[in-house]
Amino acid sequence: MALIVQKYGGTSVGSIDRIRNVAGRMARTRDAGNQVVAVVSAMSGVTDGLIKMAKELNEEPADRELDVLLATGEQQSIALVAMALHSLGVDAASVTGRQAGIYTTGSHTRGRISNMDPTLMRKFLDEGKTLVVAGFQGVTLDGMVHTLGRGGSDLTAIAVAAALKADVCQILTDVDGVYTCDPRIVKNARKLPEISYDEMLEMASSGSKVMQSRSVEFAKKFGVIFEVRSSLNDNPGTLVLEEHPNMENVVIRGISIERSQARVTISGIPDHPGMSGKILGCLAEAEINLDMIVSNISSEDRSKHSFTMHSNDLGKAQAALKPVLAELSKDAKIETEAGIAKLSAVGIGMRSHSGVAATMFKALGDKGINIGMISTSEIKIAVTVDEIHIEDAARAVHDAFGLDKEPV
Ligand code: ADP
Ligand code: ASP
Ligand code: MG
Repeated sequence: MALIVQKYGGTSVGSIDRIRNVAGRMARTRDAGNQVVAVVSAMSGVTDGLIKMAKELNEEPADRELDVLLATGEQQSIALVAMALHSLGVDAASVTGRQAGIYTTGSHTRGRISNMDPTLMRKFLDEGKTLVVAGFQGVTLDGMVHTLGRGGSDLTAIAVAAALKADVCQILTDVDGVYTCDPRIVKNARKLPEISYDEMLEMASSGSKVMQSRSVEFAKKFGVIFEVRSSLNDNPGTLVLEEHPNMENVVIRGISIERSQARVTISGIPDHPGMSGKILGCLAEAEINLDMIVSNISSEDRSKHSFTMHSNDLGKAQAALKPVLAELSKDAKIETEAGIAKLSAVGIGMRSHSGVAATMFKALGDKGINIGMISTSEIKIAVTVDEIHIEDAARAVHDAFGLDKEPV
């Protein structure tokens, strides 16, 4: 008898019919002789709806209360899925984050899983029950409710699979695997049979929201091999696992895009030690997540710093920078630009192949798309472009690397 962890996302439980479909699928997996633990998300739109209500009452709702509110979305789903299973005659129990023994540390709305105590889940499984666990939530040691960041049910599923030493972990969603690019944007994107943890992590953290990036980190750390596949059909999906030598033959595994980015450029700063620390320090204090950071010496020993962030953070960044820049130099100038997007090409094969950046930049140039900033890591090249061009840019780069074709 195998122990199978299945995760159903918001769309997969997005209506009463879809919930019936999930229950049917779980029942079939169980009837095939397996123990089944499903981790479920809130019904699609529910988490956003709860956030909207909170903001109508208070522009800056307290994170502690937001966590209490948002955790209810997943609790609705577990009860409904368990009820659907009961009506199919399956002995099922809903399990909240606390009951699943998911202990967290860190801040509200960004809880980090610190420990798992699967005692109750084990007891229920020993009694022959099928379990429906609430994704996206945990509790601190002193009982405060935490949520795990948007898309956090993926993390719950991987953590539950690790804690229960599951034989199989399936992420069941509204696409039938991880594609070379979001198939909603690049119509001829190809489903990947497998992808390494590092590539999935880079793609997830650069905008491919098919997996939450922290869940991939967790899977890598605990060696949880998982499969991304459809909740609506039985097509084989994509295995996410440790890299193996054959994987390096492919130069680019996939392409990600991230919209709603903004750039801040600061010029006229004296080129002295400690300046970058002060500038970035004030942004860190304001809890602004920077993405790309490019610094250079311009003229007359003045330095220039550009960085990107989510456009929602632009106002906060300007407010945090103003007093610091006034203190650093009377010549300091700040320019901002919203409406940009980031395109990333990811692949572990980049380590052993040259000319990748040139191919990418030429493809964009040939389409008349201007590149703003560029950043690279060992397995990723990322550029910014005007947001209006991002989809064309993704298609051009996808074509340039022939990602629609099976690799030879
Ligand atoms: P769930 O609600 O099941 O967690 P998500 O909406 O979070 O599902 O993730 C699935 C979506 O991710 C797909 O509908 C697809 O549009 C998007 N996506 C982005 N990049 C990719 C990719 N490279 N491969 C597959 N899907 C992708
Ligand atoms: N319901 C949460 C969200 O919308 C968590 C999840 O769906 O994974 O972000
Ligand atoms: Mg998701």
